[in-house]
Amino acid sequence: MEYIDLRSDTVTKPTPEMREAMAEAEVGDDVYMDDPTVNKLQEIAAEMLGKEGSLFVPSGTMGNLLALLVHCQRGDEVIVGDKSHIYMNEAGGMSALGGIHPHPVMNQADGTFLLDDILASIQTEDVHHTITRLVCLENTQNVCGGVVLSVEYTRAVGKIARENDLSLHIDGARIFNAAAALDVSVKELVEPADSVMFCLSKGLAAPVGSMLVGTKKFIKRARHLRKMLGGGMRQAGVLAAAGLISLEKMTGRLGQDHARAKNLFEGLKQVQGLKLDASPSSNMVYFDLGDEVKLSVDQIMEQMKKRGVLVDWAGPRRFRLVTHYWVDDEGVAKTLKAFGEVLK
Ligand SMILES: *Cc1c(COP(=O)(O)O)cnc(C)c1O
Repeated sequence: MEYIDLRSDTVTKPTPEMREAMAEAEVGDDVYMDDPTVNKLQEIAAEMLGKEGSLFVPSGTMGNLLALLVHCQRGDEVIVGDKSHIYMNEAGGMSALGGIHPHPVMNQADGTFLLDDILASIQTEDVHHTITRLVCLENTQNVCGGVVLSVEYTRAVGKIARENDLSLHIDGARIFNAAAALDVSVKELVEPADSVMFCLSKGLAAPVGSMLVGTKKFIKRARHLRKMLGGGMRQAGVLAAAGLISLEKMTGRLGQDHARAKNLFEGLKQVQGLKLDASPSSNMVYFDLGDEVKLSVDQIMEQMKKRGVLVDWAGPRRFRLVTHYWVDDEGVAKTLKAFGEVLK
C-alpha cells in the first residue's frame, strides 16, 4: 500500500529529479575538499544565508553539536530552550562530548524566550559560576507547534547577545519554512546569528544531510571537529547533488505545505473528539484527544494505518501531523476521511 505519511517531514524520499542528479553527480574526495558538487552546495548555502562559509554535515544533530563545540569550551554554559531539540532530543551531546553546561530557559507558547529570562540567565563573573558563551534559538520551534520566530524577535536576541559578548546560534532545521511563513528572505531572518544549522533532509526533501553556516574561521574549525567526530565524508557529492535541488527547487514551494497544514487543521476541527491547538503557522498540526475518546493513541495509529495513513504521537494523548512534498490535497482529504471514520 502507498501510505500517506504524516509522521514527519524527515520521511520525504528524494524526488525523481534528485535521483537523476545523484546518479550523474560529479564527485571527488571531500576530505581533500575535492568534491565539486559539495563545494557548490556549500557556496550556494552560504550565499543564501548571507554568511561567509558553510559545511555539509551528515545530520542536523551533528551540525548543532559542531556549533556548540566551536562556540564553547569545556565548562562553558549555553542558554537553550527547555523545549528545544538541542536540549531534549540530541542525546545530551553537548555535555557528553563537549563538557558544555546547558542552561535551560522556558520556551513560551509562541516559541520565544522572554528577553528578561535571557538576561537573567547570563552568569555574572564569579568564581562560583560558569561562563555563559552562547544563546541558541530554534526556528521554527518544533515542540511549541512549528511556530515561527520573527525577524524583530531574532534581532532583539542578537542585540542582547552582542551586548553581553555572547554568540547566537540558530537551530534552523526548518528555517526555510520560517522564512516562507514570514515571507522574508532567509538571509534577513538569520542576519543577527553567528551560526545557523538547517536541514536539507526535512521539508526540503533531500535524502540525507544538513548545512552549518557561519564565518570562514568558524567553518574551518567546524570542519576539523567534523573529522574528529567521524563526519568527514568522501564522495559526498552524490548526496550534495540532491541538496542542490533542495535549495534551488524546494525552498520556493514550502508555502504549499503550510497551506495544506491549514486545510488539515480546519478539517480536523470538524472531527468529534479532537482538541486542536492554534492554527498552524508552518507545516505542523498538533492536537489532543478529548476525554470522551476511549481509544489510545496506539490504537488510533493502528486504525489509521489500516486506512493507509501513517501518523505519530507527540504525547500520551497527543498527535503531531507534518505536511511535506509527498502529501498532496488528495492525501489531506484521505487523512481527514480516515480520522472521521476512526473516531466515529
Ligand atoms: C530534526 C531536527 C534537528 C536534527 O536533525 P537530524 O538530522 O534529525 O539530526 C535539529 N533541530 C530540530 C528543531 C529538528 O527538528
